Amino acid sequence: MSIATEVKRRRTFAIISHPDAGKTTLTEKLLLFAGAIQIAGSVKARKASRHASSDWMEIEKQRGISVASSVMQMEYRDCVINLLDTPGHQDFSEDTYRVLTAVDAALMVLDAANGVEPQTIRLLQVCRARNTPIITFVNKFDREVQEPLELLSEIESHLGMDTVPLAWPVGMGRHFGGVLDLRKQHMRVFQSGQERRAGDDEILTDLKAPELNQRFGDAYAKAQDEVELMEAAAPPFDHQAFLLGKQTPVFFGSAINNFGVQEVLDALVDFAPPPGPRTALEREVQPEEPKFSGVVFKIQANMDPAHRDRVAFIRVASGHFERGMRLKVVRTGKEIRPNNVVSFLSQRRDIVEEAYAGDIIGIPNHGVLHLGDVLTEGESLHFTGLPFFAPELFQAVEVKDPLRIKQLRTGLTQLGEEGAIQVFRPEAAGGALLLGAIGQLQFEVVAQRLKTEYGVDARMMPSRYTLARWFTCDDPKALRKFTDANAANIAYDVVEAPAFLATSSAQLRVVQELYPAIRFHAMREHG
Ligand code: GDP
Repeated sequence: MSIATEVKRRRTFAIISHPDAGKTTLTEKLLLFAGAIQIAGSVKARKASRHASSDWMEIEKQRGISVASSVMQMEYRDCVINLLDTPGHQDFSEDTYRVLTAVDAALMVLDAANGVEPQTIRLLQVCRARNTPIITFVNKFDREVQEPLELLSEIESHLGMDTVPLAWPVGMGRHFGGVLDLRKQHMRVFQSGQERRAGDDEILTDLKAPELNQRFGDAYAKAQDEVELMEAAAPPFDHQAFLLGKQTPVFFGSAINNFGVQEVLDALVDFAPPPGPRTALEREVQPEEPKFSGVVFKIQANMDPAHRDRVAFIRVASGHFERGMRLKVVRTGKEIRPNNVVSFLSQRRDIVEEAYAGDIIGIPNHGVLHLGDVLTEGESLHFTGLPFFAPELFQAVEVKDPLRIKQLRTGLTQLGEEGAIQVFRPEAAGGALLLGAIGQLQFEVVAQRLKTEYGVDARMMPSRYTLARWFTCDDPKALRKFTDANAANIAYDVVEAPAFLATSSAQLRVVQELYPAIRFHAMREHG
């Protein structure tokens, strides 16, 4: 098959949700329906066994959350689907945000009882900023939940985009009758149970049949009224509007009961876009170009703390990857020839033989690859758009045993490169290194990993800072004036980008007014 054909059949997406909405359950059911796994339960089981393997994972286990995201690949119809998991917990959202830069679409899972929850809102903001198309799945209709019309208006107000239901629930909870498929004009009758596949469901094709009112009670007439109402008010589904992130198709179901999953899988294949061009500083890169290029969007420490190797997750941007090919790391100019590249086919780690745009490959390495690195066959390309977010929490860090200061610096550098934490070196001499995070848990993970992987007992101390802004200025004189007057509040991150640290938003406002020539940024893009 040609590169262009391979690219066209790729679908790369992330699932976003609030914890407990049913992301893990839906992921597993998608794999099941695509035939990538045989029995339900294996994703959860793997999640559990992974936990056992290292100390810092212990924290995840205790908190019952998933810190690390992973990648799954499956084939469905003629498509290759790459599904990137995002940690649902509020902590580690930085990592999650970066995962969203590696996908072409997102699947939003909502708990129908809770609607749009805080964690989902933050993730949605990133999708909105990037115009990522979003498919919505409203889960748990086997429970007493919110009314579908209410849910839709809630989604619309949070997303700022039109919702276009392509299915409609008949009843809910104990009276959940099934869903009307508004495209095919039939009804899929609900049955509970985890063993069924979509083919096993009863499908009703005559939606006008009078016995349906008897069979499903008032819920049936209500659903039909709602559909009428909504079809009069809502715009029809417009594929182009979806691709531009202006409309989201909405599905209803119950993931745990394998119900409504088929529709979601089909929508991914039918609607989600194949990989498109990616912007580099030098030029736009087309996915079907013959030469390979890719970006490291995530670095994950190996589960085995004794070996300090890490896996760099690379999203292929163009060309054809083959095992053993020579690749250039653009930042350093170094050549690597990865042989043990891993893919993530249906939860097993397989050795990858080849990959195309949209695919994710993992390259184990010992620090050669950093977050944001670009790999090519030789061309110098710098992709834009890998975001670093201004931390919201700060702690100063010191080492208990002064003889281990070097290990502390090495550890923090490596953890910083991984994106586990942000490290700031104060401008003022003698100041302790500062750690910046989005979630409190990041500090705990870093302290634990410094201990187990680098043998460093780190002391974390409160810091008076509460926010950071990277700054730039076109006028060198104005910049100089600003940095001279504010040296005590300036620190440099791992790539030596200067940031202004403030103790309150009031302080930041004052500085902004005093120095209008300085631009302050809450986000820094790599490259
Ligand atoms: P995640 O945190 O988003 O990955 O959520 P999980 O997939 O782990 O699900 C959270 C809880 O909701 C689990 O106890 C699931 O069994 C339950 N759950 C998932 N889907 C459904 C559903 O369709 N109906 C009901 N009643 N419970 C569900």
